[in-house]
Amino acid sequence: MKRPRRNHSAPNMICYVCKHPDFRVRKGAVRDNPALQILEGANCGLVPLSSLDHIQAGHYENSGMHRDDWPSIETWLRETEQDDQRRFDMLKTALVNRKVLDFGCGAAGFVRKAESLAAEVAGVEPERRVREHWGDAIALYGSLEDAGGGDDLITAFHVIEHLPDPGAMLKKLAALLKDRGRLVIEVPSSDDVLLTLYDSDAFQRFTYWSQHLFLFNAETLRRLAVQAGLRVVSIQQFQRYPLSNHLHWLSRQQPGGHQHWSFLDSPALIEAYAASLAAVGKGDTLIAHLERDQALIKPVFFQRQRQLVTNRRSKPK
Ligand SMILES: [Zn+2]
Repeated sequence: MKRPRRNHSAPNMICYVCKHPDFRVRKGAVRDNPALQILEGANCGLVPLSSLDHIQAGHYENSGMHRDDWPSIETWLRETEQDDQRRFDMLKTALVNRKVLDFGCGAAGFVRKAESLAAEVAGVEPERRVREHWGDAIALYGSLEDAGGGDDLITAFHVIEHLPDPGAMLKKLAALLKDRGRLVIEVPSSDDVLLTLYDSDAFQRFTYWSQHLFLFNAETLRRLAVQAGLRVVSIQQFQRYPLSNHLHWLSRQQPGGHQHWSFLDSPALIEAYAASLAAVGKGDTLIAHLERDQALIKPVFFQRQRQLVTNRRSKPK
């Protein structure tokens, strides 16, 4: 791999995690905003975009994440079904009879599943369409302040990489946890093997997105959590995409290999490949289990607001 170029485009920028001023420019392009550069902190390895100016207040409330390509809620649910089920299976025992909050719940597929085991489940999703879709069928809130506190478990799946101030949000989430409550964070990994070992040019022009403001690896995620006053229980490597997907990137320079070449993916191969990538820290996903450190973060408790009940009673879909 060629030595990454030194960044001169953001001279006053310091690293969000370690405050160091030096960055390298990563290979690749932001697929929906070529003016942005992908940086990598020379000290800690955090991967920020070169600017966050394209994220304005109200962005997520107005479906800004999807821009002109808005999936219907039904399509969105179908797309997330596999991940929703995997997360539900992973957290089953932690859900039973607990008070649960899914922060940035998207189409609310995980919230729907969690309802079958938890004592109480709420979701927070700024995107208005989702709340309009479900109406009062499930407890959905537009902001964290409305969603209460005293939770046993808070989940945030592929959320904090979208936030301009992820550390502040971790602190807020931690303050909503009960004593010994658990915060489970899932993020894409900046050490994905397609980026850091296979060095796929096509993937590096495809994967970076203007909505992913920061990409973390296990170390930068750990530092972020500790700085937010959380105790790190574990940070696990996980692989969402199987070998067929990676072979397809390397052979055809295109996504979709896990669909086109799914015949390659026996359960044994999926498991063995994921374990091999985890062993070298190059999975595509990180899952962090964090706990509130009582000494550092005082709990807060908001009364959960009554759901806004509209006349247009939307049926569960
Ligand atoms: Zn840094």
